Amino acid sequence: MTTCICPVCRARNSLADRCRRCRADLSWLRACEEYRVYWLTAARCALADGDLDRAASSLRTAEQIRQAADTAKWRAVAALIQGNYAAAWNYYQEARNEGD
Ligand SMILES: [Zn+2]
Repeated sequence: MTTCICPVCRARNSLADRCRRCRADLSWLRACEEYRVYWLTAARCALADGDLDRAASSLRTAEQIRQAADTAKWRAVAALIQGNYAAAWNYYQEARNEGD
């Protein structure tokens, strides 16, 4: 489950509309996460289609919203498809270190 830190009180929350502690509106965080997941899905579809340029563009958009282990994981997959094993290894390590 994806969690977030409330920008008001720093409480860790699930992606609910309100902070469990201070009741701050977190709906915009959830909307951003849904948008990021949309772009990750688009990247996966592009990789399945063999369209590496479209996959890279979708991953870039997802990363602009939030850096996370799953974007590094998909970058590793793209690098493997391209035969760039050194980059794939680096992205794999990045994904392991971010581990969300
Ligand atoms: Zn809060």
